[in-house]
Amino acid sequence: MQINRPSVTKYRASRARIPAERPPASGSIELVFLGTRGEIERRTRRHWRHSALLLRYGRARIMVDCGADWRRRVARLAPSAIVLTHGHPDHAFGLADGVRCPVYATKETWKLIERYPVTRRGVISVGEPLAIEGICFEAFSVEHSTRAPAVGYRITAGAASIFYVPDVVAIRHRARALTGVTLYVGDGASLFRPIIRRRDGRRIGHTTIRAQLGWCAEEGVSNAIFTHCGSGIVGRDGRRVGALLRRLAREHGVAARIAHDGLRITLPGAAWRKRRAAASGH
Ligand SMILES: [Zn+2]
Ligand SMILES: [Zn+2]
Repeated sequence: MQINRPSVTKYRASRARIPAERPPASGSIELVFLGTRGEIERRTRRHWRHSALLLRYGRARIMVDCGADWRRRVARLAPSAIVLTHGHPDHAFGLADGVRCPVYATKETWKLIERYPVTRRGVISVGEPLAIEGICFEAFSVEHSTRAPAVGYRITAGAASIFYVPDVVAIRHRARALTGVTLYVGDGASLFRPIIRRRDGRRIGHTTIRAQLGWCAEEGVSNAIFTHCGSGIVGRDGRRVGALLRRLAREHGVAARIAHDGLRITLPGAAWRKRRAAASGH
């Protein structure tokens, strides 16, 4: 069964600036993978900058995460708001010089970047969905770091729901987080080998792509994209890694791909869903 295959167009990876564009079709949300590199030394043309996602919906242009690689670029990118998953350098240090737009983060993340000259600060709390310019963000706690407590976001716009979690060992309340999600955007730090340590009895680090595909299968999520790419992906033969991932994903009944800088994906909105429902007789 194939549902919600996203339409994909390429975008020039070398440009940090999104040119003036028409907003996506009414009810559709566009995902622009601005950066797809994890916290590793290596960078390639496909995975040049720290993972960050731009969501375009109506007139909203919301950036999720703003790592150190975005410090000199975020002003020109001019998002309408920024939402952070956690306070690690590759997710938040791009705000060190401040930014004009409002920034949303959890209390724990704000503590870590307290001194940054960001004036318009919003607080997101786990379990309290927040609408930002027509896009609903619901934060879910994830295991990843004890020093920089992280969340993943269930992001709903029109009929599409995405779950975005670039750094994760495990998602708390996973079933509620993922049920009915159109697209899972997950942690590409490692394909098969977990990068997990224990600190004070708690797990920190990154789970595998394989484990996340298992979550998608269990919760009925048919599409997955992996960002925040680690050394198992960055600098490897893209076609081979892609084929490996697709095979692994198929075993889980999921369609999956690896994101690269500049990748754009449009998720159809309510009208598309209605047409499809009518066509299938529901
Ligand atoms: Zn992190
Ligand atoms: Zn990270």
